[in-house]
Amino acid sequence: MISHTWNNIGIQDIKGILCDLDDTLYAYEPCNKAGYAAVRQLACEKFAIPGEAFDEYWKQGRQVIHHDLASFGAGHSRLLYAQKVAEQYFGHTHPEFTLLAEEAYWSAFLDRMEWDADARSFLERAQQAGLDICIVTDLTAQIQHRKWLKLGLGAHVRYMVSSEEAGYEKPEPAIFKLALQKLGMKPEEVIMIGDSLRKDVQGAEVMGIRAYHIKREA
Ligand SMILES: [Mg+2]
Repeated sequence: MISHTWNNIGIQDIKGILCDLDDTLYAYEPCNKAGYAAVRQLACEKFAIPGEAFDEYWKQGRQVIHHDLASFGAGHSRLLYAQKVAEQYFGHTHPEFTLLAEEAYWSAFLDRMEWDADARSFLERAQQAGLDICIVTDLTAQIQHRKWLKLGLGAHVRYMVSSEEAGYEKPEPAIFKLALQKLGMKPEEVIMIGDSLRKDVQGAEVMGIRAYHIKREA
């Protein structure tokens, strides 16, 4: 398996494209940092949770949710991380904190999101070539729809499949099968593009889909 840049992905002999979203079409980490700073500030200023305590409870909550929901879209749910923070710090479920925390995180995350220029040019090229594109993405459907709107994916992309919708995360075949079903295409008629060797590349290759690994420059 070799890494590719967007410019050297050939699209001559295919009908459709499956493409990851997070850290493939945009750089994830700056957005995650902005989201985390916002939720931490909310916790400190509005709910008087000390910053160090928030850091520890968020980290713990994230680990528990990741572990307990490892194969599912909700395993990344900031709502559930925030619920764990509330239950640790306040000693009870606290919907006001939890809902505000989730929104603070994602609002700041989305504000920071911007296209990878090469990815955008590639999707334009693919669309002009008449290819149908389906986003194949891990996470809950609601936030992935918000990311779609933020980037304006509808200008280039026809469908999205989230792991919440498919029932399982990549590299499980279910999510790739649903994407192929939406496009009405066979594995050999599409390619998969993504930043994760395990989830995107190996997951697609098990299905008989040719895959391209996009390695993000730091
Ligand atoms: Mg990714």
